Amino acid sequence: MYPDLLSTYGDRGNLLVLRRRAELRGIEVEAIEVNADQPVPGQGDIYLIGGGEDLPQILAANRLRADGGLASAASRGAVVFAVCAGYQVIGDFFGGVEGERVAGLGILDISSGRGDRRGVGEVVADVDPALGVPRLTGFENHQGVTKLGSGARPLARVTLGVGNGDGTEGAYAGKVLGTYLHGPALARNPGLADLLLSWAVGPLQPLDPDAEEWASRLRRERLAAVDR
Ligand code: GLN
Repeated sequence: MYPDLLSTYGDRGNLLVLRRRAELRGIEVEAIEVNADQPVPGQGDIYLIGGGEDLPQILAANRLRADGGLASAASRGAVVFAVCAGYQVIGDFFGGVEGERVAGLGILDISSGRGDRRGVGEVVADVDPALGVPRLTGFENHQGVTKLGSGARPLARVTLGVGNGDGTEGAYAGKVLGTYLHGPALARNPGLADLLLSWAVGPLQPLDPDAEEWASRLRRERLAAVDR
């Protein structure tokens, strides 16, 4: 969704990772990039929305609200994966440039404001055991702090970094999942990519270890770089 407004720090790579991990399993993929002046298609299986600067983020939120397609896709059970600005946008509201409330899409029970300091740097976080995904590695760069309502669960607990700002990182409910992590998040965390794919298509066969080599190396290198 809206790569013209929201795709900082290579978040578009999340699409490439999902596509590759699906195709390695013989699952056919049609990727549709939807710019902010185009209608949101209703029949997607997985919707990706990335990070962005404050003003494009506000524009994206207003357009997505006016379009209505992403919210209705989520309500019919489509998978939504949202990163940073995108994560804030799918919540109830977020803090604009001066901290003013900007309405989000209300498809995840979270709300965001602006923190006193930007959260910048590497993040390591342990995922909710219910999801069966190994520890997350990524990096963050955001001013926003996010509170979860009773309808969303924390995706992970931070062991390094800021995340939501209260010791948790990201949130999920049903098949809607958001995170502050860039990296791109799915390149550094193939387990998270497979979780999203399995939500869309059901149980997945494991990949040949050779196909995992570069992803595993990247994870090892990034986790070792912050091991204290
Ligand atoms: N503009 C948002 C913030 O600063 C999101 C930033 C981002 O997506 N990296 O909180």
